[in-house]
Amino acid sequence: KSKEILKMQEEMETSALNYPKYFEIAIKEAKGSTIIDVDDNVYIDWFAGVAVVNLGHRNPEIVKALKDQIEKYWHFVEVPSEVRVNFLKALRETLNFDSKILFTTTGADAVEAAIKIARWNTGKRLILAFDNAYHGITAGTLGFTTYPPAKKFQPYYDNNVITIPYPYEYRCPFKDCLNEILSLVEHEVRTHDVAGILVEPVQGEGGYIVPPKGFLKGLREIADKYGSLLIVDEIQSGVGRTGKMWAYEWEGIVPDLVTIAKGIGEGIPLSLVAYKRDLDKLPQAFHLGTYRGNPLGLAVGKATIEYIKSHGILERVVSLGDYAKKKFNEIMEDNYKGSFDVRGLGFMIGVEFSDAKKNPASDFVKGMIKGLLRNGVIMYKAGLYNNVLRFMAPLTIPKELLYRGLEVFEEVLKRSVF
Ligand code: PMP
Repeated sequence: KSKEILKMQEEMETSALNYPKYFEIAIKEAKGSTIIDVDDNVYIDWFAGVAVVNLGHRNPEIVKALKDQIEKYWHFVEVPSEVRVNFLKALRETLNFDSKILFTTTGADAVEAAIKIARWNTGKRLILAFDNAYHGITAGTLGFTTYPPAKKFQPYYDNNVITIPYPYEYRCPFKDCLNEILSLVEHEVRTHDVAGILVEPVQGEGGYIVPPKGFLKGLREIADKYGSLLIVDEIQSGVGRTGKMWAYEWEGIVPDLVTIAKGIGEGIPLSLVAYKRDLDKLPQAFHLGTYRGNPLGLAVGKATIEYIKSHGILERVVSLGDYAKKKFNEIMEDNYKGSFDVRGLGFMIGVEFSDAKKNPASDFVKGMIKGLLRNGVIMYKAGLYNNVLRFMAPLTIPKELLYRGLEVFEEVLKRSVF
């Protein structure tokens, strides 16, 4: 049945789709951390809709929030409402600065709005971004994103960007990775007209790359010294995924702007920019969008924040994340012959596969994704070279499904030909 549905979809929808090329299944139902396809195969979900369904599919508390709101209304645009102010209050309490919020619709939309706010407030134009970054691939965000398929669409609409290497220690081009990169950043900030430094605290699509300690702190100092704003993109790393509500908290910094999407709406499109109150002198209606602050998303967003707080989710992500990282390392050491790197924070774990000379083992990873799927685990890739498997399970995954998934990972790895 899956094959039939896939064929019909392929017939009608664009051939430029991505995920069905990896997951040749049609979904019937999803619950918690499992997915059931139309042929009744059951899969362990380590994908969570690209790190979106953080609290598990159809989490009962999220379902309740949705149902309650759906009985009231689900669209209006900006007009004051309790669901709106209740969400705003809950969200602002999670941030470590006095924030104002601008709602957007997607992750890329939030990044575009953040760039506008930074440029307006500084009167400067350039944005400093990083190699391997992913901030969206709309016309406005393409220039800040390193993503080979999108690179075909040059020249970008927004070319006012300087790109610097990210401290990717496994493949770092520098000896003293962190300090050399920070000094590169400082050089650019000093010599150019930089409105904002746009950074993922842990790179997502780029390969689940965790920078060394001191990176965000260093960027904060440079931004302060030269009058640039620090824009932290928490679209993938936020909402508890790294074991803190916001990944920037691991570095104890205060950002100027934060972009938030994915997990905050659990799949109901909700995104936003949180920015410091003193950046709030903005032109009226400078950023619009019909669906901003959709009430269903707002109801879910508030329930999500409350759930994370009341169910000890952050502590769980830290301890189970540490355990999973250790296990991935052991499994790789015991079973993989090439060079590899296991890295991560919380439930954002990347396993990078290379040959002995560190050439990316992209085909091997493609085979692993298919092998994992065939054996009941949904896991997806990342990285510029498509050679990183990423663990991004729902933060609520039952321990048994984590353990079973790790067993399957080991079995599939053992059987894969390198
Ligand atoms: N920033 C980051 C860090 C992301 O991971 C993504 C999506 N993968 C985006 C921005 C873009 O979000 P969206 O796909 O909702 O436009």
